[in-house]
Amino acid sequence: MKPPLLEVLKQRTLLGDGAMGTQLMLAGLEQGNCGEAWNLTHPERVLAIQRRYAEAGSDCILTNTFGGSRIMLNRHSNADKAVAINQAAVAIAREAFNGRDGYVIGDIGPFGGLMEPYGDFTESDVRTAFNEQARALVDAGADAIIIETQTSLEELLLGIAAAQEAGAPCIIGSMAYDVTLDGSTFRTMMGVNPERAAEFMQKHGAHIVALNCGTGMDMERARQAVLRYRKVTDLPVMVQPNAGQPKLVAMKVVYDETPEQMVTGVAPLLEAGANIIGACCGSTPEHIRAFRTALDIYQTTSTSAGNGGADPPVRGRPPGRPFDPTQGDRP
Ligand SMILES: [Zn+2]
Repeated sequence: MKPPLLEVLKQRTLLGDGAMGTQLMLAGLEQGNCGEAWNLTHPERVLAIQRRYAEAGSDCILTNTFGGSRIMLNRHSNADKAVAINQAAVAIAREAFNGRDGYVIGDIGPFGGLMEPYGDFTESDVRTAFNEQARALVDAGADAIIIETQTSLEELLLGIAAAQEAGAPCIIGSMAYDVTLDGSTFRTMMGVNPERAAEFMQKHGAHIVALNCGTGMDMERARQAVLRYRKVTDLPVMVQPNAGQPKLVAMKVVYDETPEQMVTGVAPLLEAGANIIGACCGSTPEHIRAFRTALDIYQTTSTSAGNGGADPPVRGRPPGRPFDPTQGDRP
């Protein structure tokens, strides 16, 4: 029996996974098509992606259900398959671990519209859709639910409430921040800053505060967000930054941060007190493999990894001595 996710986070930092959307495209999904339907029509392709993450060292894998609410699925005439798609996704992610202990995190993304009075959807529509999705994920055995890429607290709250009602053992709220034009700070599209988000999540019963995706949110910005979360909450923190910025190359969207570049941000994130580190758009199993190495080195050389940054031991090496993890050196 593996310990519950929240228990294991008291002992060590966990590694998340990398992007699903960009990997589905690489596996042949056409832009604008329904990647979540692949849980039923091409489960082997979803499994192959998630198995590569598991083999790269992920401790947590998010289900392929980002657009798996009935409102999102309805755009592809798949609303009637919502429960089956979400349940299949949990089984696939579990299978990806190949018998190894790992945490399956049921993914709920934005419903993809605006609620009244700004948009066409009623709160009740969204509540119904999230409730159905959360219940399908939990019933299928998800270890946690993440409500991710959120920009509004109203929608986030509906996701948290749905996860609670479904009896989710662990609830993660994850905001998508955009760096402001002048570069001085970051907030969500709807104007929510990290302090406000973290306080809101804690108040409403989330167990882990998180950030993912966003615009301009590189590893350094993610580190700043962790510090800002840490100022207002003692809940565990999860981060999944994108692999740099999207660029259009030969009519394809590519992300420009290599594993070698991105991995330099892992130790600073750990130092800031991140408890789960994964990556979002554009990241690959190679990024996650590099993260695994950095995380392992950090954890074997640190007695305070993931303790929220309290009293970090003094580390460092004398100038001139080569890097040596056995001597407590950091990558
Ligand atoms: Zn993303």
